[in-house]
Amino acid sequence: MRNLEKAVFLDRDGVINYDVGNYTTSLKEFDVLEGVLETLKSWFDRGYGLVVITNQGGIDKGLFTEDTVTAMHHYLQGLCNLRGFAIDAFYYCVHHPEASGRCLCRKPGSLLVEKALHRFGLKPENCVMIGDRERDVEAAVGAGVRGILIEQNRGISGISPF
Ligand SMILES: [Mg+2]
Ligand SMILES: [Zn+2]
Repeated sequence: MRNLEKAVFLDRDGVINYDVGNYTTSLKEFDVLEGVLETLKSWFDRGYGLVVITNQGGIDKGLFTEDTVTAMHHYLQGLCNLRGFAIDAFYYCVHHPEASGRCLCRKPGSLLVEKALHRFGLKPENCVMIGDRERDVEAAVGAGVRGILIEQNRGISGISPF
């Protein structure tokens, strides 16, 4: 685990990989958006932690399994490793309110953001969350972290989080 003083929290679908409009249900559908890996590497090299925080309620709905999500994250991590950097942590919520019911971890809930802050001993004011939905920003703000809302599937090139 890297010692972090600052970090970028990232939503996954629509920010890192192409959001097909519903759920990303298989590794085959997991397409990393253009420029994402290069941008993540530039932030990593500047000392920013990289933490993915994603709702994966499709697991609860039985659309795909947790193993599929793990495979996607291994695949993404592998692409990062090939470029000489790594994502520091992945957090995901497996729940969906229409399946097993409400939970605390699903965004706009702030629990996963708070967990990430706690795990790395990060101050909220030294972090930022990038998402493509209002609920990503809400989850961040609930934990005292600034949120940046970007257009879905635009990628993160040219975004300066700090
Ligand atoms: Mg998204
Ligand atoms: Zn949850």
